[in-house]
Order: sequence, then C-alpha cells, then structure tokens
Amino acid sequence: MPAFFRSRAGRQWLSLMVLGAALWVVGALLQFGDHLAAFVQQFDAYGADKLVLALAVAGTMSFIYSVLRITDLRKEMVLRARAEAKADWTATHDHLTKLPNRYAFERAVLAQRRAKVDEYSEEWERNVTIFGIDLDGFKKVNDLIGHNGGDALLVEVSKRICAIGSADSVYRFGGDEFIIIATGLSSQHEERLSRLLIQAVTRPIHIDGFAVEVGASVGYDRWRQGEALEDTAHRADLAMYEAKSRGPNNYLAFEASMHDKVAARASLEAKLRLAIKNKAIRPFYQPLIDLKTGDVCGFEALARWTDDDGISIPPPVFIGIAEETGLITALFEDLLAHACRDALLWDDRITLSFNVSPVQMEDRLLTSRIFKTLTINGLPTNRLEIEITENALIQDPASAAAILDDLHEAGVQIALDDFGTGYSSLAQLARYRFDKIKIDKSFIATYRDDERQEKIVLAMLGLGRSLNIKTTAEGIEEPRQLNNLIQLGCDIGQGYLFGRPMPIEETLAFLADRNRTLAAS
Ligand code: C2E
Ligand code: CA
Ligand code: CA
Repeated sequence: MPAFFRSRAGRQWLSLMVLGAALWVVGALLQFGDHLAAFVQQFDAYGADKLVLALAVAGTMSFIYSVLRITDLRKEMVLRARAEAKADWTATHDHLTKLPNRYAFERAVLAQRRAKVDEYSEEWERNVTIFGIDLDGFKKVNDLIGHNGGDALLVEVSKRICAIGSADSVYRFGGDEFIIIATGLSSQHEERLSRLLIQAVTRPIHIDGFAVEVGASVGYDRWRQGEALEDTAHRADLAMYEAKSRGPNNYLAFEASMHDKVAARASLEAKLRLAIKNKAIRPFYQPLIDLKTGDVCGFEALARWTDDDGISIPPPVFIGIAEETGLITALFEDLLAHACRDALLWDDRITLSFNVSPVQMEDRLLTSRIFKTLTINGLPTNRLEIEITENALIQDPASAAAILDDLHEAGVQIALDDFGTGYSSLAQLARYRFDKIKIDKSFIATYRDDERQEKIVLAMLGLGRSLNIKTTAEGIEEPRQLNNLIQLGCDIGQGYLFGRPMPIEETLAFLADRNRTLAAS
C-alpha cells in the first residue's frame, strides 16, 4: 500500500472517498432532495445530471476533508511548538540545578550584540556587573560524599545563590562555576554582594547526615558600553582566578594588571612549547655525597632553561606550566634520555636521581616510558633513582602504589623528596617502602639556630635508621651544618657546600678533582 494511504491524512481521504461514493450512489438512487434534483435537472438535457451530482458530493467531501486536515495541522503545530520549547530549554539549561547554562549566556550575548550598540534597553544603560564564582575544595567534598552527594551540594549552592535578591540572572557554567549578572550596583554594593555570595556558599550544607563545607572565590567587573558580555565575563573570571590564588573565600574586582599577568603567562607558555620542541631545556647535575666516605654517590638532575633573551627561568615556574599544560611528559622524556646518556660517562657506582612531578603519577604509562628510555639509552635500572614528593602519593594512592611497585621490582630506587614539608609524611612512610628520605632544605637551613628544628632533624634521622631507610640532607651550605649532620649519623649530603647544579662537562672535572682530594687526604 502506498505510504500516503498509511498516513492519517491518507486514511481520512480514503474513507471520505468511500463515503462520497456511497452518498453518490444513494443520492443517485433516491433522487437526492428536490432542490438538488431540480438543479441537476437543468443539466438533464445534456445527460450530465449524474456527473453534476458527483461533483456536488465531491465538493462537499473535499470541504469536510480540508476542515479535518486544518484541525489536525493546528494540533500538530501546537505539539511541535511545545517540543521545540522543551528542546530549547534542555539545550539552554543545566539539568541538575535547572539554571541557564553557558549556551544560554552565549545567546544573551548574541541578543545583546544584535541590538544596536547605542540602543540598548534601559536595563543595559544602567550599570551591569558580572560576577564569576567558583567553589573551593569541591573535588575533595565530592570524593568524601560521593557523586550524588556532590550533585546535591551543587543544587543547594545554586538555590542559595539565586535566593540572593540582587542577582538578576544566575548561570551555571559547568562544574562548580557560576556566573551572575546584576544591574544597578554601586562599588559598595558589588563588594557586599561578593561577601553575601561567599557567606551563602560557605555555610555548612547537610547532605546524608554529613555537614559539609566548601569555599568560594569571587571575581567581578562592570560591563563597558559597547562591549560584548563575554568580555566582561572573561574579566570577571580573571579576577576570580586571582582571588582564588590568594586562598579560599576571597573576592576581587578586576584590575588591568591581571590582564598583564595572563598575557605574560601565555607568552611564557608559548616560549616553553618552543623550548621543549627545540630541546633547549637541559639537565644540570648536583652532586650527592656519601657522608661516611666522602665519595660522590650520585647526581640529581635538575632542569635548566635560559630563554632566547638570556634570562634563566626558575624550574618551579616552568615545571609548573609544563604540569598544567600536559607538556611535562615530553619534557620528562627528553630530559631523562639526555641524563641517561650523560650518566654513562660517570663511574658505575654513581646513581642518577631524577625528579618525577605529582601529575606524572596519574600517567598509567609512566613506568613503561621510564623503562623504554632506560633501554634505548643503555642505562641499567639499578643506576636510576626516582625522587617523588608526598603530593605525588596522595592524589591517587592506588595508581601511585602500582607505579612504585613496578619501579621497585625492576631495581629502580625511590626517594621521598622534601620530607617533612607535607601533611602526611609519616603516613606515606608507613604505606610505602622507600629507599631514601630527603630531609627538606628548610630544616637544614635553620636547624643550627633553632633548638626545636635540631630535634626534628634528629628525630627524622632516627626514623630513617629504625626503618632501615637511608637519609639525605638537602641544602647544606655551611661546614658547621655538615659537621653536625655527620655527627648525627646522616648518610648522604647535598648542597652548595659540595657543589651547585652544573653541566655534564663540569661534573667530569668535579669527579676528577674530588678523587684527587680524597686520595691526598
Ligand atoms: P628539589 O627537587 O627539592 O631540588 C632541590 C632544589 O634545591 C634545586 O632547586 C637546587 O638547586 C636547590 N638547592 C640545592 N642545594 C641548595 C643549597 O645548598 N641551598 C639552597 N638554597 N638551595 C639548594 P632548583 O633547581 O631551582 O629546583 C627547584 C625544584 O624544581 C626542585 O626541587 C624540583 O622540585 C623541581 N625540578 C627541577 N628540575 C626538575 C625536573 O627535571 N623535573 C621535575 N619534575 N621537577 C624538577
Ligand atoms: Ca629533588
Ligand atoms: Ca627537595
């Protein structure tokens, strides 16, 4: 059967045709109505009376058919409009908090852009402020109370934000990020609204019997006549990030210097990409001295980068950017390969210590990357020591444990770096089997002048001994620090007193020099 006859319209047409034909037969048989008969009779002379009757019936049927179709179409249009409105709502709203989303904001931006710049509605002529708000510590809460708990928290937070009267429209920009548009606020009111927002969000929230607390960072700026709303929102965001960098529950109005900071950071990121591509970042090596024998027992590789303008950029700065941008893997592989080749120039007893940053511990391929680099460059696994900090262990303990186990099994040594500066040093020592702990240089720098610090260093050395783990003291700068550490039984020393980080050629001269001195003494 053709598709038309299967549709509602087709079925209606067919039934009307059948009905029409029946009527025609009945009409023809019964000489339908006097008027119609008389009227039809006029055509009798031409023998067309039955044809005219057929036309009249067909006309009536067509009329009824049209009325039915129009009613149907109208119903369909109403349904379609409803479905469209629903789809539009779904596309422009966040299903969890029911707040308009980023797409709705973009639409508002477009609508504003379409309106002629000088002909904004009255609302736009009054001052408009955009606030960016981002929760602090939401991830931690999510881990604690689970995904559903995190959702419940977001719903409650959005209700609280909407309940603040002066917020005209509230958007959820995904995750734990909200944008608020408010109009007609003075500077004092803007500050007050920021404080209100922080207070509203930070009040404890009761979820599944837990009273959970999150923080909030707020940044804001005014809309400027003629600009797109998204530019204002972008500045509010920059201010919010700056506020966040100053610790939780801060608010800040946008300032021009924030732009400069972002521009400087973007330019540094671009330079870093290029430097990694051109292999312009190189490892330097700082000696590690066995304090029992005075021998050099290893070198720690430390990344060094001097940019094209001759300015040397501190490792914490470029390592931080590399971590945030995911460039760390490429940088790590390059530096490790370079260091492995350099380490082959030293005596077999000398180990290579290499820093692994916390974000790398989330990389499931880390161990295979390390093994591959060692194999290609010919350095045996037992000559490599990996230095990690506590932060590397607490983010994803299961993944970290798997990585450390694999490395250990292959003979790579593991050192716990910056020991004593984190929140959970002892917990980490209990959980993993380290080969070495490196007492952070902050304890060594001040411990001779501070009795309490000295006791802490003594306790750390005792801890190492009782767990049968070697201890390294970092940042030894003065002979009296060294003498003291030797007396206290520290195993390994590192610091400017022995040598600063140096290029590979200088390590060879350093080793020769050190051997001569040791032989002479
Ligand atoms: P770290 O691993 O704790 O490295 C020791 C830092 O202390 C080095 O700073 C070193 O130059 C410095 N230092 C050594 N002896 C002394 C001393 O006697 N006195 C003082 N005041 N400082 C001393 P550097 O090279 O600036 O590196 C800083 C941090 O950057 C490193 O801390 C490490 O966390 C990171 N880093 C450096 N290179 C790499 C790398 O290739 N990969 C990764 N993931 N991190 C790296
Ligand atoms: Ca280190
Ligand atoms: Ca360290």
